[in-house]
Amino acid sequence: MTLDEIKQAQAAPTQEKATAQAKPPVEQTKAKAEKQTNCLGCNKTIMKLQRYYRDGKFYCSKTCWRKYITKSKEEKK
Ligand SMILES: [Zn+2]
Repeated sequence: MTLDEIKQAQAAPTQEKATAQAKPPVEQTKAKAEKQTNCLGCNKTIMKLQRYYRDGKFYCSKTCWRKYITKSKEEKK
């Protein structure tokens, strides 16, 4: 919902206001799953301090990165 739409909804008569409130919150569904927070090797949540960055993905350690590489190679076969 843009700022203009919010202003319109607030200025609109009561009936239209009720329909606007019935809509599901778009912003909440949007914000999810944008950032990678889990390690691709062990699927645990990565702490900022221990993350290991490789090829655009995050892992919690070099071991997990190697684990993920080996796993993905096996899947390709
Ligand atoms: Zn890991």
